[in-house]
Amino acid sequence: MDTKHYTCLYCYEEFIPKRRHVQKFCSATCRSKAHHQKTKIDAPQTGLQTTNSTNSTNKIEQISAAGIGNAAVGALAADVLKNVFTTNNNKPATKGDILALRRSYNRYQRILNMPGRPDGTLPYYDMETKCYIYLKPFK
Ligand SMILES: [Zn+2]
Repeated sequence: MDTKHYTCLYCYEEFIPKRRHVQKFCSATCRSKAHHQKTKIDAPQTGLQTTNSTNSTNKIEQISAAGIGNAAVGALAADVLKNVFTTNNNKPATKGDILALRRSYNRYQRILNMPGRPDGTLPYYDMETKCYIYLKPFK
């Protein structure tokens, strides 16, 4: 009689199989549990992929032409801030980092002889694109 121990693929307990090379689990319970676990993991993955692609499409459609300016500025400021605070594994910001941050803020110059809009945005001159844009004032 062969006394070689096999490891159950579900509970990882060692067992002596009744039928060698055929039995992968110590018991019928482990075999059915492993089967249920496999089907459980497979099912939501397919559903999730469908939901994600739908969501991202909606998001792109929802960004209005007016919102792009503010979103771009927000992303720019966030990027600069992230760089300042994560430079060299969270060491204090260097003088160069501070200057880069200040430069990015100076890109948009407040236009003083133009009125703001009812939505609270103010006219700024974008030094890089040489255009004026309406932005929420930096706080
Ligand atoms: Zn088992």
